[in-house]
Amino acid sequence: MQYHSPSSFNEAVAISNSSSGLVKYLAGGTDVLVQLKIGTKSPDHLIDIKNIPGVREISLRDDGGYTIGAAVSGAQLTDHKELSKKWPGLVEGMELVGSAQIQSRATLVGNLCNGSPAADSVPGMIAAGASVSILNSSGTKDVLVEDIPSGPGSTSLKNGELITAINLPKRNDYEGDAYLRFIPRTEMDIAVVGCAVNLSLENGFITTAKVVLGAVGPKVMLAHSAADCLVGTKLDDNILSRFSAKCSQIAKPISDKRGSAEFRKDIIGVIAQRAARKAYDRALGKY
Ligand SMILES: Cc1cc2nc3c(=O)[nH]c(=O)nc-3n(C[C@H](O)[C@H](O)[C@H](O)COP(=O)(O)OP(=O)(O)OC[C@H]3O[C@@H](n4cnc5c(N)ncnc54)[C@H](O)[C@@H]3O)c2cc1C
Repeated sequence: MQYHSPSSFNEAVAISNSSSGLVKYLAGGTDVLVQLKIGTKSPDHLIDIKNIPGVREISLRDDGGYTIGAAVSGAQLTDHKELSKKWPGLVEGMELVGSAQIQSRATLVGNLCNGSPAADSVPGMIAAGASVSILNSSGTKDVLVEDIPSGPGSTSLKNGELITAINLPKRNDYEGDAYLRFIPRTEMDIAVVGCAVNLSLENGFITTAKVVLGAVGPKVMLAHSAADCLVGTKLDDNILSRFSAKCSQIAKPISDKRGSAEFRKDIIGVIAQRAARKAYDRALGKY
């Protein structure tokens, strides 16, 4: 295996395109290096992106949104007070990834590109309407995060395509997001189900809603009809129980050692309801 440490994104893509065999980008390495060690993936080329200038920076754009570099760690996100205040749901999804050691390395981009339907930070990014900047040999393009996962362990990225950053839209007043997951123990486990909700309010009424379900299908999924239940309401108990039932109905989970399909369908409704309530309270500025 050859290790590369390019000093620009263009160089990274050029190395990828001129290399044969299995080529992997390396961000935090908390998936790639584990896969390499246990032998499930043996890259011929490992392209470390961490030494590219700007790749570990979080910046506020002129349009009021944030750009998060591809190698920004979970710990950096948590430490960024302004970003954590504006997008608490997105940040709390990433905070759930692993332990303190993992947090110091793991990235949003790596979590997305690993392609797990149970990835904890992906529902929050999709609910936020985030996009990724992708570089390939023809240039750059912006793609919504929701269009990246394509199935268990796979993404829509083509060979050699490199995500350079994640772009979050501007946050307005009376907007709030939340991510919750269910795991059988208190930490260091993979989501049995997960749900992110992002809401905008006007005079207490929900004007827009995005609901994203994790670990209940072959990829993280937008629950459009569940989100529609919330729009135009003030989230009373009747609405919440209708919303909960809708999320359970949309979920298409499998049974595995972490939980049966039946259990997952049931518990996603409970978790989604709690996430919606939390996002709503945050939009009202309660915490
Ligand atoms: C002990 C432990 C606990 C964990 N707990 C959780 C958990 O609770 N929840 C959870 O969701 N995950 C968990 N994970 C998985 C992992 O930590 C996350 O998926 C993490 O966010 C991956 O980020 P990374 O930067 O380390 O990715 P890497 O390992 O560097 O890369 C992951 C994938 O993304 C690709 N990639 C990296 N950067 C780019 C780029 N810029 N452009 C295109 N492709 C790229 C790589 O080639 C690779 O295929 C855990 C892992 C460990 C070891």
